[in-house]
Amino acid sequence: MPLRETEAIVLRTYRIGETDKVVSLFSRQFGRIRGAATGAQRPKSRYGGLLEPLTYIHLWLYEREHRELVRINSAELLESFFDMQRNYRLQLAAQYLAEVGERFLPDREVNERAFRLFLAVLRGMKWSGEAERPLLYFNLWMLKLGGFMPPVTQCTQCGRALAEDRAYYGNEAIGFVCSECRDSRYSRSVPGDVSILLDGLSHTPLDTWLHSQAAAPVVREARRPLETWIEIAAEKKLVTLEALADEA
Ligand SMILES: [Zn+2]
Repeated sequence: MPLRETEAIVLRTYRIGETDKVVSLFSRQFGRIRGAATGAQRPKSRYGGLLEPLTYIHLWLYEREHRELVRINSAELLESFFDMQRNYRLQLAAQYLAEVGERFLPDREVNERAFRLFLAVLRGMKWSGEAERPLLYFNLWMLKLGGFMPPVTQCTQCGRALAEDRAYYGNEAIGFVCSECRDSRYSRSVPGDVSILLDGLSHTPLDTWLHSQAAAPVVREARRPLETWIEIAAEKKLVTLEALADEA
């Protein structure tokens, strides 16, 4: 079997027995994959503690015929996001990124834009020390890149502009509706300016946004509908969301 290489972000690791690990990875060249790392739990393993969540690594691996798991041969550090996770809120945010990556990214589907999004969001959190705007940006672009993001400035039912009105959303359908069109399925709402904020983010790089003025209070409110839509699109409840909301 030929030795392959790729850049990757570690999403999650699972201990197998006393010495080994299975690692869930978002790789640049192969998409989301899982790999077996023999001896990774040993104190002096050749992976040198690099197989930890959200570490950005260069990876050498063997594909195995008819096996789902690749075999990880070795890894080299490209960038660590470990220190920033001493901040508890950033730690929760990082766990959320990893969970969405695992639930939302299709198996073995290369997605260069999503890979760059992960890096931009992790780096944004690292240098700014802020979780709120990077998280909102991540949610918005994961939905967009997955083809799930609805138009946000209009009611998805009647097309009316939402800026003046509250925008309503619910657990069953992706998209906002206006106060005229809402029914019992759309039980939650955000101010109309959330739709303007979300629309603006489609044209603003994260770094530019983080370098501008401090986060508006509406940023946190704007995240909720997107989290709900990610759960709808992934057809799964996200377990890290509760901790992230409690901490808010
Ligand atoms: Zn409407």
